[in-house]
Amino acid sequence: MTDLLTSLPAPLVSVLTVVVLAVGLWLLLTRTVLGRGFSVPLRTMFRPPETSEYPEKPRPVQPRFHGRHQLNRYTDGLEKCIGCELCAWACPADAIYVQGANNTTEARYSPGERYAEDYQINYNRCILCGLCIEACPTRALTMTHDYEFSADQRHKLVYTKDDLIEPVGADGEATPHTDRQVRERGLNYYGGLAVTPPTLHGGKYKPAAAAPSARAGQVVPSGELPEPGEHPQGPATVGVPTRGRRGRDLDGGDAR
Ligand code: SF4
Ligand code: SF4
Repeated sequence: MTDLLTSLPAPLVSVLTVVVLAVGLWLLLTRTVLGRGFSVPLRTMFRPPETSEYPEKPRPVQPRFHGRHQLNRYTDGLEKCIGCELCAWACPADAIYVQGANNTTEARYSPGERYAEDYQINYNRCILCGLCIEACPTRALTMTHDYEFSADQRHKLVYTKDDLIEPVGADGEATPHTDRQVRERGLNYYGGLAVTPPTLHGGKYKPAAAAPSARAGQVVPSGELPEPGEHPQGPATVGVPTRGRRGRDLDGGDAR
């Protein structure tokens, strides 16, 4: 073997040496655990550094990123949440607490029969899976792109309705409204996605863009408007409180 190598021309020996070393290095880096480990810094040490200047310049998230929740409103300010508790039932982490109450002729918060008198999301439990927003029948609950809501105490991560509800837009009025005001507007609140499309918004928390509500005369009952205090189907009752799925308050001490 040594005689064979010494008989070969020097350039050819050099080439063969380089080839053997290269094949050996390739086998080391791809066929051994140690080599695969070392290959990572070897691959990355020549790349330009990619430094993210967080929190001064947070990187944009993907459009369907699941951040903190928001309770949405219609353009006139009425709340989309009808207090149905479907989101609470869909939540695998039992992180949502809804207490529904009845709307009345003089105090209407949502277009439906009921509204959420209290609404809480416990972010100590929430895994931001998005099952609750899939369950919501009115698109009242959506998720924003805001992920900067850490806290130094657990009770601060229990967000109440005041924390979650979208601010009233320029064309809206704060709730409650009266039935007379709502009927006179003649808005179609149940036109589905064509009327109230989902809104995406990125970066830090911002109120969702106001979705246009369509006018639809056919959904407004015909005939005389009821007088203030009068209910078309008889006197309304106020606030039959309901409990959350497991009937307990979601205070910070209950958090796991
Ligand atoms: S995102 Fe998931 S875990 Fe969080 S409240 Fe909604 S359903 Fe529950
Ligand atoms: S957010 Fe949606 S699912 Fe949850 S109580 Fe309100 S309307 Fe029902």
